[in-house]
Amino acid sequence: MLLTTRPILRRFGMYLCRECINREYGVHLKREDVRYKYTEDPCPYCGATNHVVTSFTVTGLYKLRHVWENRDD
Ligand SMILES: [Zn+2]
Repeated sequence: MLLTTRPILRRFGMYLCRECINREYGVHLKREDVRYKYTEDPCPYCGATNHVVTSFTVTGLYKLRHVWENRDD
């Protein structure tokens, strides 16, 4: 089961890499918490050659639940 990154897309207007998501949302997503885009484009937010996250697993969404529940956008 994969879950949407729509709240990130709505806030930033782009997909972010895992490092940016962790920094911006104050979470600690691990590799197994996310699903990456297949192509190896750099992150459009930080410019690093990190894989861009396009969806989350259930464990990833659980870590982000406070973000989704307390959206300020
Ligand atoms: Zn980034």
